[in-house]
Amino acid sequence: MSNCEDCEQWMQPYMDRALTEAERFDAERHLNECSYCRKRYRFEEHLRQFVRQAVVEPMPAELKQKLASLRTPLQ
Ligand SMILES: [Zn+2]
Repeated sequence: MSNCEDCEQWMQPYMDRALTEAERFDAERHLNECSYCRKRYRFEEHLRQFVRQAVVEPMPAELKQKLASLRTPLQ
């Protein structure tokens, strides 16, 4: 749990808060000790924020119209 190879496995569940308390403790300890995984974690977190924002932000009206015009009308 506390080396960089395991990091791959707990990174996602860690961000989903799906780890047990003990696993979470190990994960946090590793993040504190390891700048490599800390960087990875920050990157993943930013990625998630970016994806979330992309979903929340409304589509520009222009693009919506364009998509609508491409859609085959239901008859
Ligand atoms: Zn590491």
